[in-house]
Amino acid sequence: MDFTGQVGIVTGGTRGIGKAIAEGLAQKGVNLVVAGRNLDAAQEVAASLSAMGVTAKGMKLDVSNTGEVEKAFGEIRKEFNRIDILINNAGITKDGLLMRMKEEAWDAVIDTNLKGVFLCSREAIKDMSRQRYGRIVNISSVAAFMGNPGQANYSASKAGIIGFTRTVAREYASRGITVNAVAPGFIETAMTDVLPENIKEEMKRLIPLGKFGTGNDIANAAIFLASPESGYITGQVIHVNGGMYM
Ligand code: NDP
Repeated sequence: MDFTGQVGIVTGGTRGIGKAIAEGLAQKGVNLVVAGRNLDAAQEVAASLSAMGVTAKGMKLDVSNTGEVEKAFGEIRKEFNRIDILINNAGITKDGLLMRMKEEAWDAVIDTNLKGVFLCSREAIKDMSRQRYGRIVNISSVAAFMGNPGQANYSASKAGIIGFTRTVAREYASRGITVNAVAPGFIETAMTDVLPENIKEEMKRLIPLGKFGTGNDIANAAIFLASPESGYITGQVIHVNGGMYM
């Protein structure tokens, strides 16, 4: 895969899956912007990527905040001059059964997981259109396909990403821009650490490969979709879940 001279943005790149994707892209020589709500954490990851020999910048960016997104992309444009890759990875959960789900929990999850993808893609697509080249990779979830009790807001946000992916893929294919999604299964990160042991064991039983995935498992798929070599693939979903959903 040849990423020479490319610039990528990873939202939610401060830990977990996003950090693994950022590290994988840096290993391939991609200059990177690592964005998250915590500036210190973003700068710390960026420093470790710089040590790998690429140009990397940590930025404070709440993907659900229109003003912050527009400002951040403006700065990126000025500093890096191009945007080749956008990894829409930032995501949160606020679980609860439907009857008890607070409206704030619904709004917060939709705003970060779905509206955030819209806002960041709307910015990046301007640069990608001008360049007539771009790769957008959206991180969805197995929950979009299987559902998951207690995650009506999360599953809806992640299923929304799939419709968004296909539509934008059709809108911008003629400009050399591909838009795809990766749907992770159960991946060991801070997001899943909080689950009770009995739920984790139950989940493991549903996975034919018999183990949870790692950030690198997702990064490998995302990096392929972010590469020039995936250029004839658009509007697709790659499921990375150990066979949990097939
Ligand atoms: P983590 O909680 O470990 O990391 C989430 C990242 O998103 C952090 O960097 C966090 O940084 C950032 N983030 C959260 N809210 C915002 C926001 N509003 N604006 C910008 N950044 C934000 O989660 P994972 O690494 O596990 O998850 C990454 C993605 O993968 C998510 O979209 C998640 O839904 C998806 N996924 C994860 C699965 C799993 O099993 N772990 C399974 C399926 C999908 P900060 O808090 O500093 O802002």
